[in-house]
Amino acid sequence: MTTSAEPDTAVFEKLESEVRMYCRTFPVVFERAKGAELRTEEGRTFIDFFCGAGSLNYGHNNEFIKRRLLDYLADDGIMHGLDLYTAAKRSFLTSFNEIVLQPRGLDFKMQFTGPTGTDAVEAALKLARKATGRSGLMAFTGGYHGMSHGSLAVTGSRRARRAGGVSGQDVTFVPYEDGPLGPFDSIGLVERLFADSSSGTELPAAVIVEPMQMEGGVYPASREWLRALRQVTERYGVLLILDEIQSGCGRTGRFFCFEDAGIIPDIVTVSKSISGYGLPLSLTLFRRELDVWAPGEHTGTFRGNQLAFVAATAVCEIWQQPAFRTGLREASEHLARFRAELGALDPALGLRGRGMVLGIDTGRAGGPERAARVQRYAFDHGLIVECCGRQDEVLKVMPPLTIDPALLDAGLGVLRDGLLAA
Ligand code: PMP
Repeated sequence: MTTSAEPDTAVFEKLESEVRMYCRTFPVVFERAKGAELRTEEGRTFIDFFCGAGSLNYGHNNEFIKRRLLDYLADDGIMHGLDLYTAAKRSFLTSFNEIVLQPRGLDFKMQFTGPTGTDAVEAALKLARKATGRSGLMAFTGGYHGMSHGSLAVTGSRRARRAGGVSGQDVTFVPYEDGPLGPFDSIGLVERLFADSSSGTELPAAVIVEPMQMEGGVYPASREWLRALRQVTERYGVLLILDEIQSGCGRTGRFFCFEDAGIIPDIVTVSKSISGYGLPLSLTLFRRELDVWAPGEHTGTFRGNQLAFVAATAVCEIWQQPAFRTGLREASEHLARFRAELGALDPALGLRGRGMVLGIDTGRAGGPERAARVQRYAFDHGLIVECCGRQDEVLKVMPPLTIDPALLDAGLGVLRDGLLAA
């Protein structure tokens, strides 16, 4: 790592809103990036264990995807198409269906929503309400689904909800299977609320859930819990929405995190790494019978970014490459070995995750102050890692799925040293 001049951040501080966030933790000016590494304009390099909050699962400027994008640009491929039929969209629909959905037994229709994750969630909630004729929703404590009005209403964080001015909005919250306050019999409570005609709650249109809570502190739901949730929702005719925006696209080792449980949800939201290049694209997937939309009932100018379609089609092909699948398995094993090593080094740490995500919980091992010190140590030693959880007490380790083993090792080494030093 080389350091030269002080980062030139004055313009951002003067002109950009106080709402800016990540740049406060990582106060440098990024200029270029490749694979698992970021480079600042001052010439510092960082290993990226943050990956745009899960938007860069295939690394920065992935060569395979980039070539497709460059060809498309050079050929004057259509760049904006509302929801017109385009060749780029046809290629994506076909590839995603044949490579991702069909082999997993998922007969889903695809809706392209506005460009960001919260747009896919809004569409999912709206569709669930329209399809069932019910207005209530059920969500889980610790869940995160976005910052627009509907998705915020099903998000747990009091701070985020207050800032958004959302109140009850017909949402019933149930504790997640696990969280900082310990395990909970969520399914028992859901069952009671559904079954009891005097429960004080109407049967909801849908239950929305992350199969692994990411912002909430890296809490994976067990396979049994997800299966039980699928059963109870099915029994009462309540739709099950799986929010795979951060846990999906291979992050937990499989394309969808819910695959592990062998369940078929009614609605799935996908965003972040679906384009694989950091280009904005969001999808709401749902069982064919649920496609009760009338034309134009949910619309928007930027639905289905054409460049993102090109990139996302290339990503489908990446999933067919044996080298990618082997690399993902080996990197996941590498992370699992590191987890075991940390567990032996500091048994007070909570260690959770699956595949290419590891949550290092300092809740009983020094708390948020220690997590912040480790994050700072990592930054000073050339590693970007984010904190999550109620108090930012959990270090969220999310390297690219395609990271080179030597870089993975180097980044994990910095984390280990940081934990020992802090
Ligand atoms: N759902 C989940 C599970 C998320 O992690 C996020 C983003 N962190 C969202 C929804 C919202 O996505 P976006 O920030 O792109 O609106």
